[in-house]
Amino acid sequence: MTIARVIVDVPSRETDRPFDYSVPDSLRDWVEVGSRVAVPFAGRTLQGIVVALPGDAEVELSRLKAVSDVLDAVPPLSEELVKLGEWMSRRWLCPLTVAFQAMLPAALKGRTEKYVSVADDAVFSDEELAEAGALLHALRKDSATQAKLSALLTKFQGSGAHLKRWLKQGRLIERQKVENRLSVKTVLTVFPRDADTLGAGKADIPARARKQREVIEWLEEHPEPIALQELAEAAGTTASTIRSLEERGLLEIRGVTEDRDPYADRDFPVSSPLPLTPAQATALEPIASAIDAKDRKVFLLHGVTGSGKTEIYLQAIQQALSLGREAIVLVPEIALTPQMVERFKSRFGARVAVLHSRLSQGERFDEWRKIREGRAQVAVGARSAVFAPFSNIGLIVIDEEHETSYKQEESPKYHARDVAIERARLSGAAVVLGSATPSLETYEAALSGRAGPDIPHYISLPERVADRPLPGVTIVDMREELKLGNRAMFSRELADALRDRLAKGEQTVLLLNRRGYATFVMCRSCGHTVQCPHCDISLTHHKGSGNMRCHYCGYAETEPKTCPACQSPHIRFFGTGTQKVEESLAHTFPGIRVIRMDVDTTSEKGSHEKWLTEFRERRADVLLGTQMVAKGLDFPYVTLVGVLAADAALRLPDFRAAERTFQLLTQVAGRAGRHELPGEVIIQTYDPEHSSVASVQGHDYAKFTEQELFIRSQLGYPPYGRLIALTFSHESVPMLLSVGQRFASGLKAKAAELGLASTELDVLGPVPSPIPRLKDRYRFQCMVKYRGELAASALVAGVLQGMGEAVKKSGVLTSVDVDPQMML
Ligand code: ADP
Ligand code: ZN
Ligand code: ZN
Repeated sequence: MTIARVIVDVPSRETDRPFDYSVPDSLRDWVEVGSRVAVPFAGRTLQGIVVALPGDAEVELSRLKAVSDVLDAVPPLSEELVKLGEWMSRRWLCPLTVAFQAMLPAALKGRTEKYVSVADDAVFSDEELAEAGALLHALRKDSATQAKLSALLTKFQGSGAHLKRWLKQGRLIERQKVENRLSVKTVLTVFPRDADTLGAGKADIPARARKQREVIEWLEEHPEPIALQELAEAAGTTASTIRSLEERGLLEIRGVTEDRDPYADRDFPVSSPLPLTPAQATALEPIASAIDAKDRKVFLLHGVTGSGKTEIYLQAIQQALSLGREAIVLVPEIALTPQMVERFKSRFGARVAVLHSRLSQGERFDEWRKIREGRAQVAVGARSAVFAPFSNIGLIVIDEEHETSYKQEESPKYHARDVAIERARLSGAAVVLGSATPSLETYEAALSGRAGPDIPHYISLPERVADRPLPGVTIVDMREELKLGNRAMFSRELADALRDRLAKGEQTVLLLNRRGYATFVMCRSCGHTVQCPHCDISLTHHKGSGNMRCHYCGYAETEPKTCPACQSPHIRFFGTGTQKVEESLAHTFPGIRVIRMDVDTTSEKGSHEKWLTEFRERRADVLLGTQMVAKGLDFPYVTLVGVLAADAALRLPDFRAAERTFQLLTQVAGRAGRHELPGEVIIQTYDPEHSSVASVQGHDYAKFTEQELFIRSQLGYPPYGRLIALTFSHESVPMLLSVGQRFASGLKAKAAELGLASTELDVLGPVPSPIPRLKDRYRFQCMVKYRGELAASALVAGVLQGMGEAVKKSGVLTSVDVDPQMML
């Protein structure tokens, strides 16, 4: 008898370990490591993942419960992915099942359904039959399949009491099944028999069944399989008429799986590999040989915008494919535009599967199946595509490796870059981290001279292809503008440059750096700001609806006419939203055609694509937007990039604020002059001396980095130290403080026990979180600062475990973020 070790899908620390089940003979061939199974657990039937099949466990088999079902013919996870999940759970301190769930498409996140059937020996009285006959009839009729309890309860509302009693008495039996949220899409399809059979059959059809004859005649002319629905329409008849032909044996109706292909209606022009420039060839060489040699190596491809990194990715992928191996390409969600997808589809056609969050659940499931079933060899997608179920990966590319969207902000709080490197280690693949502005962590590691499997090999592409120059950058001090009496949103330089582009028919990208620039409401008389009553955060003004909304809990109220505190009428909406810029553009440049891209205009499916196509076809002069206009776009007629409020995010209480600002400015500057026409960049700021703004002028990554790394080393921040952030939340502050303090002193005691100095491990806090209250819960945080080599997560986990019962009883929720990316 076989034993399966199963991680059950209950995301709690208490159940975060494998449970043993016996595997019945009938299922033995189907259960593998990585299989999704249904198992009985605490009186319910739940989904679980098999993580091991131990040969000889020291358990008494008869005492084990049995696996009740295997949910997929092919296991959705491989042994490699199971190992990766175990590693993630240790690395980011999350329950194993949470790590596994992150790897499965949403469609496979099973849910338990209850079914009811009549017990074989059940007897019902005449009275009962009279009262609930319809219910019993339905149950008997469905007995083969079993009826869904929830459906019965809605359909036979009057008989709810009977149902309950009979279930209790055992006259009805309840069974639980784990079902997928979504299944493959099947289309009922008609398969006609051969012409002779049809001909003979037609002769037998009675004269009054005219419709049936017509269907046969239609099929004689069109002998290919056809969807039932389509045939019914084409032949002007009903499905039941066609079914009666099935009974006559003239055709067969079967369900056929159909892929929901989000790109089915798109044609991608075929592209072939470009002859590489000498610089590109030199860069590709070590990557290609690592793939050849199955040498698991990490590369940092540091190339300025337009240096031809993408062409290198494409040819490295080609190399992997030619060796019969697969490739994953991660792209920031926001840059996953049709333009990016097109470059991969054009080169590799149907071998490419695309995974991102704008697809429907069904589409994503079908793309995922293409990968698992070996019909696609290249996966292009956002963060979670790093879990693409390939079995023989040769290459993982992470484009714009510095992007924050690679870190998941909810549990499991993983970073796709780290996952990629670990997955490559498990599978012997090469990793390419590409960026014009690498994260300081990656850059420092690559140039540190340290050796080790995780240390990236540094490859530099300092110039654009075809000797195209990087755009010239002008920095405009908005304080000077104000002194000269210009109160407008646009400096004279930017206004002149815009006018010039309008005259020449060239295009402009305008970035409004709005992070930390909420459109909040403030009273000019008393300074009162309108806050959410449940969260300590300003409400955001939405002009369209005239609503004030909390972006954290969804609370909304109508905008006030007078100040709620002092009744002054001088209440004002602050902040420069994209809407305001749009209005100002229309006012300053009459007739200007503007496309605005922000969360409001891109929430609809496909809107992103629509706007970009419009802009590409030059049906607009200006593309105005937030971060989403800064990444990955490549338009030949864009010759001007303007940045409003470059320094908006610099004052955020986050030690990465300067790094993020520099990266964003460099990215958006890189949108200009990528083709024949040269480009120009104008950056408006109130802080022109700040190195994150000033360094953009000379495209001087090295200079910015040197200064920034110095500051980090002084403060012991990454890459020189590492962080673990813990957030405790509860309705009551004293309770929170006591739990926070117990954690902090517990960890300090542990450190003292191990003889660690405070430079090696330090705990800061508990202090109120940057958002001190959320959804009526107060929040306190502790920050653990430590040296890289220390296994600090394990220490933190140990201390939390030790507090187990006390914390559980107090109702305080703890969330742990290892290597946090967002300090807010
Ligand atoms: P990056 O990804 O570094 O921003 P891209 O790969 O987008 O750069 O390349 C910038 C532009 O140069 C694109 O229009 C691309 O088609 C072109 N390009 C890249 N490599 C070559 C090459 N070897 N020969 C000609 N054009 C190239
Ligand atoms: Zn007021
Ligand atoms: Zn709120």
